[in-house]
Amino acid sequence: MKNLLKWWHAFDQLLFPNAPLCGLCAQNPSLAVGVCDVCLRSLSIDWKESLVFGRPCFSLVAYQGYVRDLIHRMKFQSGYDTAGSFGFLLGLAAREEPRLQHIDFLLPVPLHDNRLSKRGFNQASILADNINRAWKKPICSHMLRVRDTKPQSELSSGERKDNLLGAFDMLPGFDFKGKTCLIVDDVITSGHTFMVLANLVEQYGGIPMGLFVARTEARKE
Ligand SMILES: [Zn+2]
Repeated sequence: MKNLLKWWHAFDQLLFPNAPLCGLCAQNPSLAVGVCDVCLRSLSIDWKESLVFGRPCFSLVAYQGYVRDLIHRMKFQSGYDTAGSFGFLLGLAAREEPRLQHIDFLLPVPLHDNRLSKRGFNQASILADNINRAWKKPICSHMLRVRDTKPQSELSSGERKDNLLGAFDMLPGFDFKGKTCLIVDDVITSGHTFMVLANLVEQYGGIPMGLFVARTEARKE
């Protein structure tokens, strides 16, 4: 059976040499949504709106099982393809969401330079770039992470807010006034990172909302 599958795959490649592989498993041919049928079913897509510290946020899937493994791989191994696939799926979902039709721009959560040089990429920026493949929106790159904070996942919920004090700042030259801004990240857990960025956007006159690949269900405000 294994040989037959191998042979079939080779035959398939001969007939369709340019058929792209799934961006998540890199095993099976991709559907038009950028991932294969098996991965699509394993993701259990469940688009949800929730209020996070009073602001509307949207997420594609629950943070569990296969999704958790993929997001871990996206951050700690070569995650370009994974982030690219998730970004494209997010873009397809967001462009159909009536509550997001008035969005002015995307704001990927910035990574501090130290973390960026260790990891080599910011997964939130790759998500935003690939959301754009499905749903064209300008991307704001004027927000910076000016303090190298500890990873939120290593802290208790009480420590998370303090950890982010003064973490972000704005470069001059971007006008947030009256603009609706969609803050983009891979996972929303306690929501504190989102809240601190949302506060800053409001401080500059903008209206923040959130867009995430995954949500943890046990989030407390
Ligand atoms: Zn797949």
